[in-house]
Amino acid sequence: MPTKLSRRDFIRLCAGSAAAISLSGYLAPFMAEAVAAGAPPVIWLQGASCTGCSISLLNTVHPDIQEVLLNTISLRYHPNISAAAGDLAIKDAIYKVAEDNPKGFFLVVEGSVPTGADGLYCMVGEENGKPIPFMKLVQDIGSQAQAILNFGTCSAFGGIPATPPNPTECKPVGDIVKNVPIINVPGCPPHPDWMVGTIAHVLLYNDIPELDTFGRPKMFFENIIHDNCPRRQYFDNAIFAKNFSEPGCLLEIGCKGPIAHCDATTRLWNGGVNWCIKSGAPCIACTEPEFPGWPMYERMPSMPVGSAITATADQVGLVVGGAAVVGIAGHLAGNVLTGRIGPKKAEKEGDK
Ligand code: SF4
Ligand code: SF4
Repeated sequence: MPTKLSRRDFIRLCAGSAAAISLSGYLAPFMAEAVAAGAPPVIWLQGASCTGCSISLLNTVHPDIQEVLLNTISLRYHPNISAAAGDLAIKDAIYKVAEDNPKGFFLVVEGSVPTGADGLYCMVGEENGKPIPFMKLVQDIGSQAQAILNFGTCSAFGGIPATPPNPTECKPVGDIVKNVPIINVPGCPPHPDWMVGTIAHVLLYNDIPELDTFGRPKMFFENIIHDNCPRRQYFDNAIFAKNFSEPGCLLEIGCKGPIAHCDATTRLWNGGVNWCIKSGAPCIACTEPEFPGWPMYERMPSMPVGSAITATADQVGLVVGGAAVVGIAGHLAGNVLTGRIGPKKAEKEGDK
């Protein structure tokens, strides 16, 4: 039975684990030991979301989901899985865990926070006949947490519910709860390994992992899809698919791989079976703060020039300041200028 995993080995394991390795399976014994020794409890709340992040976690195939939730994560409450509901859930399974463990529990939030009409667009229970808005629950519980783990792009950055016109005035959790450490694990949905690995880190080391400018754990979000894409040779040779079924780089049908920080190229999805671009779909950069505020299946209309395409998240953040069109930059822009991307010569001539 393993008893110790150094932080360095843990980071290496998470960053380097590929499709062939079950990260949750490998970490399970260490986490079970930590939970048995009294690791902090975890509460999971859901707001304006599609529940896709929970479904993604439920896709963890080894160990089975019961093992992950009960022994591996020390999860005390989850809105879809816990038996408790109504008052029982709100008072006993949420507020009580927070009261009994001041600054000694971790809060997972899935979904963004509707703030319009004092939060009344998203009710999660009632107290003495009065509704409890999700916004209030996140403020009450989040402010007492040791750290908040935002699972999914909605809670991390606003995501789909916060997309204009945003009638419910949805906001990311970081806009609602201040002065509490926040870890963003984006994705629409996030890969199960990203969620299990991040929880494992906080439970095993009682500390948050190294983060990038956007609060994402570097062990999962440091690399750019474009750098390791199997279609990269097509890009380098200016061979671009015009339709989904064609071979070629998918840039012209909307691929955002050059700005997407994600390790799906090696981790793969669905238990190591496939991933977005390998299945023929362009990367939609679901892990980025601006998602989904761009044309999903169209080439980015404009691209700032300046930073290298392989810039780290920190560098990209510094250069573009989180603007909506953050940049298929550098050599990509060069390709546009030199005519490698865009209408082919014949098409241009036909336009005249
Ligand atoms: S633009 Fe997309 S499809 Fe093309 S090489 Fe980069 S990541 Fe791959
Ligand atoms: S490859 Fe792109 S679309 Fe797929 S999970 Fe990563 S960031 Fe999201």
